[in-house]
Amino acid sequence: MLVKLTDQEYGWACHDKREYQALNSLVPYVRDRVIYVLQDMTGKGFQPYVMWGRRTLKQQLAMVAKGGGIRHSRHLVGKAADIVNWLDLKRGGSGWVSSPEFKLALARAAETHGLKSGIHWKRYGPFGDHAHVEYS
Ligand SMILES: [Zn+2]
Repeated sequence: MLVKLTDQEYGWACHDKREYQALNSLVPYVRDRVIYVLQDMTGKGFQPYVMWGRRTLKQQLAMVAKGGGIRHSRHLVGKAADIVNWLDLKRGGSGWVSSPEFKLALARAAETHGLKSGIHWKRYGPFGDHAHVEYS
């Protein structure tokens, strides 16, 4: 059953059905932390968007094949989210393009709320897997 995500109940209004489903796919205590991260980011003037929450094994293996993840990911158990830039998505981009300021603010917000940031995984580049936050 999908949890209703409204401003009143969660402090976060989803941009669309995809974001709604991504948030709902997370285990509740992780979802709460992700929502705090979204609120923090919004308060700093950024426009975050939850692109991925839980992934099926098939979805994860497809990401791995494209070089975008690992086989044993926290996404498989609903304890990781990928938070991208809504403004880039709105411009027709993938959403994964964001400024260094966005990436650093996301990492700081994640760590403030007890999540790990993928920004430290430098094998993906200088900003790591910057969209990724996880509970572990
Ligand atoms: Zn991820």
